Amino acid sequence: MYLKDLLTEEQNDIRQMIRKFVDKEIMPIREELEEDYDLVESILQKLVDLGIQKSGYPEGYGGGGGFPTTTTCVIREELARGDAGISLSAIINAGSVLKPAITAGNKAVLDRFAPAFCGSKLNYACLSMTDSTGGADTENPLLKGRYVTTRARLQGDEWVINGNKSWPTHAGVASVYLTVCTTDPNLGDDGIALIYVPGDAKGLSFGKPEKKMGYKTSINASVFYDNVRVPKEFRLSGPGVDARFYHATMGGSQLSSATMSLGIAQAAFDIALDYTKDRMSGGKPVREWSMVAGILADMAIRVETTRALVYNFAWMADHRDRYGPPHSNEMISKASIMRIYAADAAVWVADMAMQLMGSNGLSPEYHLEKYLRDAKITQLWLGGQQVSRYRVVRGYYDYAVTQ
Ligand SMILES: Cc1cc2nc3c(=O)[nH]c(=O)nc-3n(C[C@H](O)[C@H](O)[C@H](O)COP(=O)(O)OP(=O)(O)OC[C@H]3O[C@@H](n4cnc5c(N)ncnc54)[C@H](O)[C@@H]3O)c2cc1C
Repeated sequence: MYLKDLLTEEQNDIRQMIRKFVDKEIMPIREELEEDYDLVESILQKLVDLGIQKSGYPEGYGGGGGFPTTTTCVIREELARGDAGISLSAIINAGSVLKPAITAGNKAVLDRFAPAFCGSKLNYACLSMTDSTGGADTENPLLKGRYVTTRARLQGDEWVINGNKSWPTHAGVASVYLTVCTTDPNLGDDGIALIYVPGDAKGLSFGKPEKKMGYKTSINASVFYDNVRVPKEFRLSGPGVDARFYHATMGGSQLSSATMSLGIAQAAFDIALDYTKDRMSGGKPVREWSMVAGILADMAIRVETTRALVYNFAWMADHRDRYGPPHSNEMISKASIMRIYAADAAVWVADMAMQLMGSNGLSPEYHLEKYLRDAKITQLWLGGQQVSRYRVVRGYYDYAVTQ
């Protein structure tokens, strides 16, 4: 895909800037980053210095006013080529958590939380969604919020929140938690309430950072809500509207996941292509053997198909006048097709890259094994590949479950 020709001049400039940044700042220390979070923070701070963090916030708060979706994808893909955890962190902090409040025009939320993201210091945001009782239940659109277990009750002028979340990225370090709650599970989608909670709220506490196989450069932990009180204005909007934003956020997250899968797959492919050029077998480079060339071709097919899917969807998201809002079943279906394909492609490409590198693929010295570990995660989150398939079919017919 000749992405260069499809991007605007500004998008190409940003692509080159992030590419150079990744090659200089991330590639040489990819393995060390997994062991030293101070190093990760120094990279994230450099991205703040480049203006990435404030890019997604309204200009009135000192932000950049928001990039088109395509530009965000370019940044995310290029960062994930270096390190997917850093890509995830940078994009979450760059506005995805406050985006519903920006779109809904919730001034109380923006006044309270936006300025800290528009300054010169690294600041974390968190989407606190996955209930400890089961993330797939929280994130399954067929269940319409009926199995969300984090409860919010309105008492006077405050929401009182109780519940436990598992695995949210940036739990424990974020200054704001967009918390997915229900006011009453029997109300289904009308019960869903998206409530912004300050990181220093009384009654909010966190588990230890999770140890995990991949995405080691971004922090995950449990979040505990024990009678946490926030002003009622910190609810995003109201019944029904919050659910629509939640489903739209799920759609956006599919794109985010797919774009990171793409960066991972590209990196793994590049490593294998290079390695098999210099590694000799039977007196010629490994990649000159036809069976290996065929595997490299299949890897390239998956990388290029993923790129076409991602930027086709990004283009659609940037043309809402033609394709409608991102929370329609059709758009979420297309986003989910792309996310499923991209995650499977990244796992397959990284796995084949290792296959072509023999035992050296296992060694951190060759930089490949981390991409295989990171790729696997993109199949697991957001309810996993199974729940995403429910989103896919809902774009074609009114698939629902009766219970
Ligand atoms: C690196 C990382 C970052 C993350 N970031 C965040 C974040 O920022 N915010 C956040 O809130 N969460 C986050 N998560 C959590 C993640 O989204 C959940 O772990 C995920 O959605 C799955 O939930 P679960 O682990 O509870 O699986 P479960 O709900 O226990 O599901 C177990 C398995 O059963 C399958 N399953 C369940 N129900 C069904 C069904 N009805 N039909 C078919 N299959 C089903 C699931 O697909 C899954 O394979 C993150 C996780 C990781 C690893």
